[in-house]
Amino acid sequence: MSKTISIIGSGFSSLSASCYLAKAGYNVTIFEKNNTVGGRARQLKKDGFTFDIGPSWYWMPDIFEKFFNDFGKSTSDYYQLDKLSPAYKIFFSDEVITIGDHMDQICEEFERIEKGSSVPLRKFIAQAQDHYDIAINKVVLKPGLSPFELVTKETVTRVDRFFKTISSEVRKKFKNPKLISTLEFPVLFLGAKPNQTPSFYSFMNYADFGLGTWHPKGGMYEIIKGMSALAKSLGVTIKTNSNVEKINVSNGKAASIIVNGEVIKSDIILSGADYHHSETLLDESYRQYSESYWDKRTFAPSSLLFYVGFNKKLKNIEHHNLFFDTNFEVHAENIYDNPKWPDNPLFYVNFPSVTDTSMAPDGCETGFFLIPIAPGLEDTPELRQQYFDIIISRFEVRTQQGVQDNILFKESFCVKDFIDDYNSYKGNAYGMANTLMQTAFLRPKLKSKKVDSLYFTGQLTVPGPGVPPSLISGKLVAELIDKNEQ
Ligand SMILES: Cc1cc2nc3c(=O)[nH]c(=O)nc-3n(C[C@H](O)[C@H](O)[C@H](O)COP(=O)(O)OP(=O)(O)OC[C@H]3O[C@@H](n4cnc5c(N)ncnc54)[C@H](O)[C@@H]3O)c2cc1C
Repeated sequence: MSKTISIIGSGFSSLSASCYLAKAGYNVTIFEKNNTVGGRARQLKKDGFTFDIGPSWYWMPDIFEKFFNDFGKSTSDYYQLDKLSPAYKIFFSDEVITIGDHMDQICEEFERIEKGSSVPLRKFIAQAQDHYDIAINKVVLKPGLSPFELVTKETVTRVDRFFKTISSEVRKKFKNPKLISTLEFPVLFLGAKPNQTPSFYSFMNYADFGLGTWHPKGGMYEIIKGMSALAKSLGVTIKTNSNVEKINVSNGKAASIIVNGEVIKSDIILSGADYHHSETLLDESYRQYSESYWDKRTFAPSSLLFYVGFNKKLKNIEHHNLFFDTNFEVHAENIYDNPKWPDNPLFYVNFPSVTDTSMAPDGCETGFFLIPIAPGLEDTPELRQQYFDIIISRFEVRTQQGVQDNILFKESFCVKDFIDDYNSYKGNAYGMANTLMQTAFLRPKLKSKKVDSLYFTGQLTVPGPGVPPSLISGKLVAELIDKNEQ
């Protein structure tokens, strides 16, 4: 008889783990509280418009490909992937920088802004590629059990890069503040400020300029659909509208979960829900991390999001658009050091319908607006509207067009929704940040130290926030379970 595994949640990490575990012969069931799978990567469809509710940047295509290859499949068996050209646009107060889809174009753009800057840029990206190869092939595939996992001949000779920050590296090589912001942007995906992120993480710059920005036709939810289809084909049962209320422990071992009032026995329990919430499903004596532990961690930001249907095609925009036309340092302070609503927020806007006509009705545009904010901030309808008014007016100025009379509808999502919909700690959007002190073995563990046969996966454990790390997290925990529980 194969062992049974109950998985809590159906985000990328849970779906990934479910596939590896089913392939290894376990009897796997996923329990998802919401009515659809995908977690933070769910989809909103309204009046012919299609929105990805969460992730929209498809970076590191190699990791998605490797995931499907592990099952004898390819991404192309599930979705069509297109490389975006240009990759994205950054609006500054007096200039726009366009990031092309290969290094020669990007170098030309850097030269336009700062003469001679393409030379250090090529060197910086070559080093970033070196970091990427080490990170992805040597470091990230480790389960975070011991500090020695980080000690390889490649990391030992580059140890200084764990103690310098990305911010200091970039500032040494570039003087123009716009180029500095451009090069600091990718590490924001790791959830912390660039001046607290080790320079080794410049592998994100290689992901950006070296590997490019991609789009699955139909949106990011196509990946979730592909992974769910793969999971089902491997024998995984997926149950939606299935809220897990409790994890029961018997003789120090995970024994069952309570789902909508029903006890479901299981040999192994794996939670892909937010780690903090997962532990609150246990009696207090079985929790590994205290409330003060969580409170002291650096969490990645929450977000105020708007999903907007426009009744016309917009001009001067690309698929991905960053509005860095205000002071990032002040905004970052309001996220990390002195949490409060920012006066002049930076924001990001995604218009997938610019390159993918399937995302909006003819002659219309699908717009996703995101303002990163500190987790745990007050969230009211008035504040949401106030910030929409701020960013939509700036959007109109920067892109030189009126759009407010062309809004068919707008939906919003913020701290309260992250908590209600995903049981997210303080309403975080991207989990726990990857700072030096929250990397690898210093992150919450994949396996419970207090309860046997209880495991965790997802963006609060290893390797960290983002869709590619979530796929890897699922693989790492599946390997650990198979090693421990066979
Ligand atoms: C707005 C936003 C933008 C982002 N942009 C990007 C991007 O562009 N590129 C990128 O790579 N990454 C991006 N990310 C990050 C990425 O989406 C996440 O890292 C990833 O989706 C996390 O997956 P996960 O499996 O860890 O968790 P989740 O997706 O949160 O899945 C956890 C699941 O557990 C369920 N759950 C919780 N409690 C229970 C319970 N008691 N019972 C049953 N089920 C439960 C939840 O409903 C949820 O479905 C973004 C995230 C957000 C929110």
